[in-house]
Amino acid sequence: MTAIAEQPQTTYSVLVGMEVHAQLLTNTKMFCRCSTDYQGDPPNTHTCPVCLGLPGALPVMNRAAIEATIRTGIALNCEISETAVFARKNYNYPDLPKGYQISQYELPQCRNGWLDIELTDGSTKRIRIHRAHLEEDTGKNTHSGNYTLVDLNRAGMPLLEIVTEADIESPEEAYAFLTKLRAILRYLGVNSGDMEKGALRCEPNISVWTAEQKARSEYGTKVEVKNLNSLRAVRGAIAYEAERQAEVLGDGGVIQQVNMGWDEVNQRTVLQRSKESSEDYRYFPEPDLPPVVVSPEWVEKLAATLPELPDSKRQRYENSWGLRPIDAETLSGEQLVADYFEAAVVTYGTDDGKPQRMANWISGELFRLIYADGEGQDLRQISELKIGPEQLAGLVALVDEKVINANTAKKVLEKMYISGEDAQKIVEREGLAMVSDTGVIDEAVAAIFAANPDELGRYRGGEVRLFGFFMGQVMRATKGKADPGAAKERLQELLDNA
Ligand SMILES: [Zn+2]
Repeated sequence: MTAIAEQPQTTYSVLVGMEVHAQLLTNTKMFCRCSTDYQGDPPNTHTCPVCLGLPGALPVMNRAAIEATIRTGIALNCEISETAVFARKNYNYPDLPKGYQISQYELPQCRNGWLDIELTDGSTKRIRIHRAHLEEDTGKNTHSGNYTLVDLNRAGMPLLEIVTEADIESPEEAYAFLTKLRAILRYLGVNSGDMEKGALRCEPNISVWTAEQKARSEYGTKVEVKNLNSLRAVRGAIAYEAERQAEVLGDGGVIQQVNMGWDEVNQRTVLQRSKESSEDYRYFPEPDLPPVVVSPEWVEKLAATLPELPDSKRQRYENSWGLRPIDAETLSGEQLVADYFEAAVVTYGTDDGKPQRMANWISGELFRLIYADGEGQDLRQISELKIGPEQLAGLVALVDEKVINANTAKKVLEKMYISGEDAQKIVEREGLAMVSDTGVIDEAVAAIFAANPDELGRYRGGEVRLFGFFMGQVMRATKGKADPGAAKERLQELLDNA
């Protein structure tokens, strides 16, 4: 056989910078008093001369949107600019009636921040935030045959754009980053986090490079994937692009700087339009708006309004309540879940490993029931459950007090989940309390011995593995309600006292 010299395979690794657009949860739009609550309403019913771009209409800044941006900047460890300036980004498109978008450009509200993410190996990685700035959203075009319908309800919605440095090095890191960022935005109450409704949109800039190029900081050509509306899509698009670009380069090709879209059905990126490298938007400061001047006192005041964020919650769960890291992370990831957990612990108690026991019940049995509900498997439903945190605490306390065993408790929980009844009430009505009364157990054991003289003889003759057989008989005779600990102890005594 002839050996064929193989070309050494070049290995590429992926590098991602992320742009995230978050619609801010304000009552009114960015520069007018139109309501932001337009979802489901007829097109063009939330509009006025300002967001329609009519001649002579003047914009007025929304203070709540600026405060939401500054609060987010503080949470993302950013420097808050003393002066931010809105600029006009000029381009023509039907969903942009003014012919320009107002956006912070050279002087954004927030700069140079960071967010730490946890990797699967337990280590932490810092993703730097390049900037976070405020702008207005565009309207929405619906293309249909020979015409395009324009809905301007969304036009002028306050939009926070967060841009990271190219620090993300895998689809998993992107997933972890966005999960953490979304949790923080929800904790702050500045964004709903509803990606499927377009309230949070992600655009990864993806390139690949070899180890040698990395050592020389020689970046590859970036491909931008536009408007991804799920975490799964972000992960899929990065994985797909990393592979596609490596293949193109491996075949001696070049990467074009383009915008891509994500084809959910075929799980691949598709070309949208080639991107001009020097797109000239003719930015200039918006003459109708003054600069945003932010005093240190204002920043301080806003900093004081920040809630406890997921990271410090997670650390508190681990350090003060002794939770396992995995549970601390799961329970702190969604504020509504954290609220539920903390309310349950307050009722149940914090000593003797109780918080960890409560965590097991919530992330095990309760989450299982929520997911089993099917429709919209969202853990935030926890705040609307029929069973409140105090009731769950009541159930777990019954297990501690040996009123019911763990298996019975799981069945009781299912009933509580459906009816919202208290555990105690279900246990009493259905006679589920454990039997630890030795009289009852003695009676059952005597009957079992009488019915199984052969097994009894063999056990007493040294075949001790038959203990399991007798234990099973006791549980069956008491319909599973025997306190396993008490029953085991008593059975042992009776077997040995021949
Ligand atoms: Zn308006």
